[in-house]
Amino acid sequence: MTGKVYLVGAGPGAPDLLTLRAARLLAAADIVFHDALVHPDTLALAARAEKVAVGKRCGRHSTVQAFINKRLVDAARKHAVVVRLKGGDPMLFGRAQEEIDALRAASVAFEVVPGVTAALAAAAELGVSLTRRGVSRNVVFATPRVGDGEAVTDWTAALAAADTGAIYMGAGEAAAVAAALIARGKPARLPVVAVENASLPGSRRWTTTLGDLPRLADEAFSGPIVLLLGEALAAAADPARARAEFLKTAEAHLLRVAV
Ligand code: SAH
Repeated sequence: MTGKVYLVGAGPGAPDLLTLRAARLLAAADIVFHDALVHPDTLALAARAEKVAVGKRCGRHSTVQAFINKRLVDAARKHAVVVRLKGGDPMLFGRAQEEIDALRAASVAFEVVPGVTAALAAAAELGVSLTRRGVSRNVVFATPRVGDGEAVTDWTAALAAADTGAIYMGAGEAAAVAAALIARGKPARLPVVAVENASLPGSRRWTTTLGDLPRLADEAFSGPIVLLLGEALAAAADPARARAEFLKTAEAHLLRVAV
């Protein structure tokens, strides 16, 4: 008899930003394979499970993906409930498809449990909506990162066309990101907010512009960073201006209603 593998989103970091379904599965798990960034309190929910770190942190030592895939298949042959716990949402920049393909090929049952992805946790923390009437009607999730052996495709085209962009794994190459998007026609004055450790107590933010983004390299950061960019972020970059604009529109609206 084979068990089932659950690809579970652990959310952006704060242990209480976890779905109830994820919490129940962790409590029932026999074994949990988790990323490096998963909060210890989240792991503690898997009280009876064997915990195996298969963490991948940008550039640092990582357990080779093929080996993780194999371990998931092997675990399902031994255990009823196998949890593969991933930061944020499993289906965004989490190599979930490779694990799903391996599980399918081995005829192992699986289920995906979504989680709160970093960009949405960052937007929540900033109090800025990524979509906004008259300003932003779309959001693009992108990364400049290319994995070993992965074909290099143009990651800038969709971002350049997007109203709002969310860039994962891009803080380390902020200068290249800025240059590529400006070359694509994005204005240098475009608001950008970098959020480090979204949802966690040590969270920090840098509000800047695309033109000044390369200065991010001067900051000492150690946690994961997501970059949000677009006019919708103006509210985070310059709250005073956002407030003045809001009052102006509100006033115009009131005048229209009054007439
Ligand atoms: N599946 C994850 C993303 C994994 S890729 C998700 O849905 O969020 C790892 C990248 O996610 C990091 O380099 C960073 O860009 C972003 N990230 C993850 N957690 C974050 C956090 N708490 N704050 C800011 N960015 C975060």
